[in-house]
Amino acid sequence: MALPKRLQSALLFTHLIFYTIRHYLTIVRRSLTASLSHLFTSAPKTPVDPSEIQNVVVVGAAFAGYFAARILATTLPRDGRWRVVVVEPNSHFNFTWVLPRFSVLEGHEHKAFIPYVPEFFGDKVPAGMVQWVRERVVRVERESVVLRSGVEIPYKYLIVATGSTVRNGLPSRPGGEGREEGMELMRGLQQRIKAAKSIVVAGGGAAGVEIASDAKHVFPEKKVTLVHSRQAVMHRFGPGLQTGAMEAMQRLGAEVVLGEKVVSEGEGFVTLSSGGKVECDCFINCTGQKPASDLVADVAPNAIAPSGHIRVKPTMQIADDALPNVYVCGEVAETDASNPNSRIAARQAEVAADNVVRLARGKTPCYKYKNRFGDGAIKLTLGLDRSMVHFWNGKAEMSWHGEETDPAMMCDEAWTNIQAEPFDDTGVFRGQLADPRDLGAGGGEGGGNGVIECTTY
Ligand SMILES: Cc1cc2nc3c(=O)[nH]c(=O)nc-3n(C[C@H](O)[C@H](O)[C@H](O)COP(=O)(O)OP(=O)(O)OC[C@H]3O[C@@H](n4cnc5c(N)ncnc54)[C@H](O)[C@@H]3O)c2cc1C
Repeated sequence: MALPKRLQSALLFTHLIFYTIRHYLTIVRRSLTASLSHLFTSAPKTPVDPSEIQNVVVVGAAFAGYFAARILATTLPRDGRWRVVVVEPNSHFNFTWVLPRFSVLEGHEHKAFIPYVPEFFGDKVPAGMVQWVRERVVRVERESVVLRSGVEIPYKYLIVATGSTVRNGLPSRPGGEGREEGMELMRGLQQRIKAAKSIVVAGGGAAGVEIASDAKHVFPEKKVTLVHSRQAVMHRFGPGLQTGAMEAMQRLGAEVVLGEKVVSEGEGFVTLSSGGKVECDCFINCTGQKPASDLVADVAPNAIAPSGHIRVKPTMQIADDALPNVYVCGEVAETDASNPNSRIAARQAEVAADNVVRLARGKTPCYKYKNRFGDGAIKLTLGLDRSMVHFWNGKAEMSWHGEETDPAMMCDEAWTNIQAEPFDDTGVFRGQLADPRDLGAGGGEGGGNGVIECTTY
């Protein structure tokens, strides 16, 4: 028997309170673990033989990998025998949440690129324990990762946190690895939107709805059409959000075409799957996000799901018994989370990193990820001055509308949360350059053909 709506909402609210309490308890547990680790272990008095140092390699430094690296750096044994190696091709932490907004609104581009700063790891991490490699991993092997340059970095434990990629770049990802390039691409899209008369946005998920509503809000005189292949925008969420988003598009005067795909772009128009044409001199594609799982395709082909995600066990170990030391977290992992987001990525990172720390301490992995109701919460902007917050557990939902006053979407808080001073950035990575061969890299020989920048915090 279905529960009355009010009772369902009351239950959701109770879940939300427990979710919040559990979240804070986890923070307290981790903080205690870190403090105890600092209390009972001290840095070695004599230097450890380099051959005894083991790498925990983290591939990707965004919501999953960056947070996993911090947990590792603060809670791995401080006996000098562990090193956290972060491999990330981007010059900056790409703050995805603001990309649709800053692809429309001029003058904020730099705020989407948060510098990676040593302060993120805190001052208790032994010098040199975190090594930063600005590179891309092209292949995972059983005991090492292979960089684009051909250099190999051996690992004892590996955390894959490579998230998603998109073919079309903005507004879902910047489309380049450097801050300057990303800002330039963003300015390019702003100018295309500004110059257009008829904008077509494909994809009625969060990125599509946000950029379409912002474009129509900022340029009410332009024709904005959102094309979505399903029968409702935001179809993976509850009916309340679907209706709220649709009403917002109508209020702003944007057109929504449902049950259609954009199949091709022509001169001044796009063609839909039904054969219909929509006037268009600026096409923005918000479809085609894919899990970045290629790097494990050779070593663990059976762990790649048809969706392209990497299958994992509840401990976040890759679902391949031959690779017990490989963990996967964030958007690239296949879990029961129906709507991935940054919070889920960070929670999975905690599970993966905590389990690796247990292994490093000679224990068995015991932490497990389970999707919880609060994980799927979303805040969707609907033009510059409104938003909707929505909770949905697949059966019942809770949502409310909000007024927004900050066009920069309070992204200064994101900077502060990852210990960067908003919006203070020279664009240059802070840290010391290190020799990649210090990481036990095989095939070094000057680093092959690619460029390797390796930094020690
Ligand atoms: C437009 C947009 C708006 C969003 N808004 C919100 C929001 O408001 N709230 C929210 O909670 N979530 C939001 N999300 C979702 C959120 O961005 C993702 O869930 C989150 O980024 C997933 O984090 P991740 O670390 O798993 O992956 P990603 O953020 O995709 O990061 C993966 C990292 O791995 C690196 N990488 C990839 N391949 C390699 C490789 N081979 N070698 C080395 N490094 C590699 C990448 O450079 C990147 O830094 C939004 C997403 C988009 C696209």
